[in-house]
Amino acid sequence: RAIVRDLTGVSEQNPVLPPGRVPIQEVDPTVFDIRFLRKIDDLGEGQFGKVELCQYDPRGDGRGELVAVKSLKSNGKGQLACHLRREIDTMRELYHHNIVKYKGVCSEEGGRTTKLIMEYLPAGSLKDYLPKRKHQTDLKRLLNYALQICQGMDYLGSQRFIHRDLAARNVLVENESTVKIGDFGLTKSMKEDKSYYTVKEETFSPVFWYAPECLMDCKFYPASDVWSFGVTLYELMTYCEPSSSPNTVYKEMLPNKTNGQMTLTRLVEVLIAGSRLPCPPRCPDTVSFRWFSTNQNLRDTVVIFTSRSFAFIAYNH
Ligand code: ADP
Ligand code: MG
Repeated sequence: RAIVRDLTGVSEQNPVLPPGRVPIQEVDPTVFDIRFLRKIDDLGEGQFGKVELCQYDPRGDGRGELVAVKSLKSNGKGQLACHLRREIDTMRELYHHNIVKYKGVCSEEGGRTTKLIMEYLPAGSLKDYLPKRKHQTDLKRLLNYALQICQGMDYLGSQRFIHRDLAARNVLVENESTVKIGDFGLTKSMKEDKSYYTVKEETFSPVFWYAPECLMDCKFYPASDVWSFGVTLYELMTYCEPSSSPNTVYKEMLPNKTNGQMTLTRLVEVLIAGSRLPCPPRCPDTVSFRWFSTNQNLRDTVVIFTSRSFAFIAYNH
């Protein structure tokens, strides 16, 4: 009680702080004040949101930290707002070296909309980074990225989350030796008593990254993320070249003029018939043996294991 009295005395002796200034110990470091957030550049946009590079500069001396700020596209209200809110709730719970760090939130319009503040990864996504760095990126480095993605995904699975959008566009590059998983916009948390998540509402799906059970039954298992990891690995091994992207290559495997809803139907047919993405050019044999189990029944084929009846065949040599 003596301390409380002393502190009361201190505040009484001090003049009132100027408006807009808050004593430092009362500031929640995860609450960002919109007044001090200054946009520097656009970083990218996806289906629901856009991400901007901003400087957070509460001292106003131009030396504030750089952060990545995700918000909804201007027309995104209602259901989409709920997407971003869920993404914030997910990121808030994740702490891992290979997962993009959550920094906080920033409210706008008197609390009606919220922005997500994350650490800024200067080299952008693997999809933007790899095609430009092809000559500086050897196999060892690619495999090291793959390992880091595995470690991040392993942690995510251990927390009972299913990412549902693992792809090179959602893996961010901190520097040439570190990558982190980002974009938790479609991530779902599995209930205690369930081993999968059934998706009911579906607006957009990255179908070429999805395992057959997701496409056919809307069921997502942790192993469905393993399939998406296989597709991501394929992207890594092709240096994310647009001409050999999963979109381009799968579309070539579908009958001519397949589009819209038919894409899903035809894709499922093609997968059930056993077609898979081809072995990336120059992908060495050693890669497969070092990283994946081989399936004895399918000679010369390398399989990434998923726990259900389907397996993703990554490489046919
Ligand atoms: P969406 O849910 O709309 O796909 P993402 O979270 O995937 O949004 O972000 C879109 C793009 O913005 C990414 O592909 C990447 O290029 C860029 N980006 C996202 N987060 C960051 C970050 N923390 N640092 C740097 N660039 C980022
Ligand atoms: Mg994305």
